[in-house]
Amino acid sequence: MSLTALGITGLIAAAVLGMVAAAAVAWAFRRRTRVHLAALQDREERLALALWATGERYWEYDLASGQLQRLLAPEGVHGRGAGLEVDITLAADLIHPDDLPRTLAEIEKHACGESAMVHAEHRIRHPRGDGWMWVRARGRAVERDAQGRALRIAGTASDVTLDRTGERDRQVTGEVLRSMNEAVSVLDGDFRFISVNPAFTRMTGYQEDEVVGQGAEVLDSSQHDPAFYRHIRERVVRLGKFSGEMWQRRKDGEEFLCAIESSVVVGKPSDPQRYVCVLSDITQQKRAEQELRYLANFDTLTNLPNRALLADRLSRAIVRARREDNRIAVLFLDLDRFKDINDSLGHAAGDRILRAAAVRLQETVGHHHTVARLGGDEFTVVLENLTSPDEADRTAREIIMAFEAPLVIDDRQDIAISPSIGISLYPDHAQVPTELLKQADTAMYQAKAAGRRTYMRYDDAMDLAIRQRATLSGALRKVLDRGELRLVYQPRLALDGARITCVEALLRWTSDEHGEIPPSRFIPLAEESGLILEIGEWVLREACLALRRWRQHGLSDLSVSVNVSALQLLRGDFHDVVRRVLADTGIPPQALELELTESVLMANAEQTAGKLQAFRELGVSLAIDDFGTGYSSLAYLKRLPITTIKIDKAFIADVTHDPEDAAITTTVITMAHSLGLNVVAEGVETEGQMRFLDDHGCDEIQGYWLSQPLDAHGCLAFVRHWTPGPGMRRGTHAGAS
Ligand code: C2E
Ligand code: MG
Ligand code: MG
Repeated sequence: MSLTALGITGLIAAAVLGMVAAAAVAWAFRRRTRVHLAALQDREERLALALWATGERYWEYDLASGQLQRLLAPEGVHGRGAGLEVDITLAADLIHPDDLPRTLAEIEKHACGESAMVHAEHRIRHPRGDGWMWVRARGRAVERDAQGRALRIAGTASDVTLDRTGERDRQVTGEVLRSMNEAVSVLDGDFRFISVNPAFTRMTGYQEDEVVGQGAEVLDSSQHDPAFYRHIRERVVRLGKFSGEMWQRRKDGEEFLCAIESSVVVGKPSDPQRYVCVLSDITQQKRAEQELRYLANFDTLTNLPNRALLADRLSRAIVRARREDNRIAVLFLDLDRFKDINDSLGHAAGDRILRAAAVRLQETVGHHHTVARLGGDEFTVVLENLTSPDEADRTAREIIMAFEAPLVIDDRQDIAISPSIGISLYPDHAQVPTELLKQADTAMYQAKAAGRRTYMRYDDAMDLAIRQRATLSGALRKVLDRGELRLVYQPRLALDGARITCVEALLRWTSDEHGEIPPSRFIPLAEESGLILEIGEWVLREACLALRRWRQHGLSDLSVSVNVSALQLLRGDFHDVVRRVLADTGIPPQALELELTESVLMANAEQTAGKLQAFRELGVSLAIDDFGTGYSSLAYLKRLPITTIKIDKAFIADVTHDPEDAAITTTVITMAHSLGLNVVAEGVETEGQMRFLDDHGCDEIQGYWLSQPLDAHGCLAFVRHWTPGPGMRRGTHAGAS
């Protein structure tokens, strides 16, 4: 082989060798690279896996550029083959502006060596999609400059959005609990308090530390028995919840009504048992409800049932009575002359009287019977289970008796007031409430007409009487215009000296339509309608004019006595009326006597005393008429500036043969004298009566024995010609022939 050939072969071989070597090196290199890359990939995969498994993200922060480089595991891909995505962004673009300063400060602290690690919690843009996510980042410097200042920091971050929102939810829940008006408490399985909110403290008065560990029964009230609360708790255990109303007790002992919602907290089986209990105080709400219900059914002045509730109770009572085949009585009660008292004393006193009357009435009939107020001074009593109608009468009598004692309306004032009562019966008179009430009302009017302070049972004839009353009332209105009224005069004899000293003016009404109507019928009607004011003034003037004529005819010592209705006295300007009439007629005040019936005077002695005093100052005499029929007590009389009492004819009628009436009459005479009062006996019909009265020192007598009431002419003639008869004692007395 030639050298040349050798050389070429060698070159080729060398080249081949070189190539082989190069290939080998390249292969080796490639292989190394491949191995290296595989290892790298493996590490990346492991890192990705680790990051995926821990939920962490890897990050690096370059302090000089402010760039944040993140390695992200691709969403949904994990395990072998999963790569990492790299994301490089400016930290300022990535971190929520609100959190950025705080986060950078945290990094800075670490960068300059003030902290061993970066700990930051902040929001960053969600890598995929919009919105923010909370991350908790930790890291450490991985590169520092010569001065030791960090250049690069690396670390991991984890998504804590859920923790943060959970925390936030808890904060919100806590805030809600704190600001709630309802008292919320959490209780353990034995119903012991674990925690309570501020409203609980406000509502119950217990601070949290005072109740924690205590049983829920610290709030149990006395309104329910302990079994009730036990039962509720058992229900909560059994059914998991309870809602309803119950009374609870505050720390200070006050009890309050609350709406309660209690339920078990549903958790994992391993969780300890918890109950949540929400209380709202509904005492006020309930009170308002009750108040409304009360207003609809009760009279607020007296607290008695009102008309609505009465109607309801009466209907029920009728149903029961029908079923049980027994009787009901409806008592309709009206206070006599209440209007006068109300007008004179004022409405506040009137209200107190009504309240006191309500109490008296309820106490008398007992709490098992319905007593209602229909308005004004009208009350109703419903009596059930009556065996006979007499029972109703008995109760009516008891009521009237109970009102004999004055009502105490305040520490200074006693008021004597009587009721008039009408009675209707189920099933005797009517079957329905409205009818029963109407009939009892009708009967009550009849009781008033019969003189008040009495009771009447309804009967059919009453309706007729009521109708007649109504027509009479109508006729009465025209009475003055038509000149249908006139006065008659009944003389009065002074026993000592046997002189006619005074005549009583008595009113007469002769109606064109109805004929002669006695004053006992029309005076109450005139009082009711207020016409008595006008009529009364006419009477006064007429009587004074008659007296003036008589005085002109020589009877210069004669006086006239005029009956005055309570209404006249109490209302308005009666004092002025009297003064005017006296001035107009020229009658000296001493020649006029006013007769007042005792009931109103006695109803309020203090009040009337003032009014009466004004008449006394005028010089007018004042007499109490019909003494003994009302509530007269001589003790009361002491307080009144009166001059005369007229003993009612009821006592005089039997004075000679009834020892009791005789005793009363003599006592009245003696006591009246001790008070310096003039005593007149009314209704003296016999000489025997006259003698008795004379023997017992009575000052004057009046009655048919002396004379019937006479017209003005007849009266003049009578007085002029009257002389004492021979049969009179002391040689000065004589009966009229
Ligand atoms: P009163 O003031 O007690 O009058 C006495 C009544 O007894 C009168 O009845 C009279 O006629 C009657 N009377 C007189 N003597 C006898 C007698 O011996 N026996 C009997 N049984 N009765 C006798 P009258 O006139 O029917 O008056 C009844 C009532 O009407 C009066 O009782 C008085 O309260 C009232 N009254 C009469 N006139 C007026 C008046 O002008 N104004 C007011 N407000 N009431 C009057
Ligand atoms: Mg009289
Ligand atoms: Mg009288």
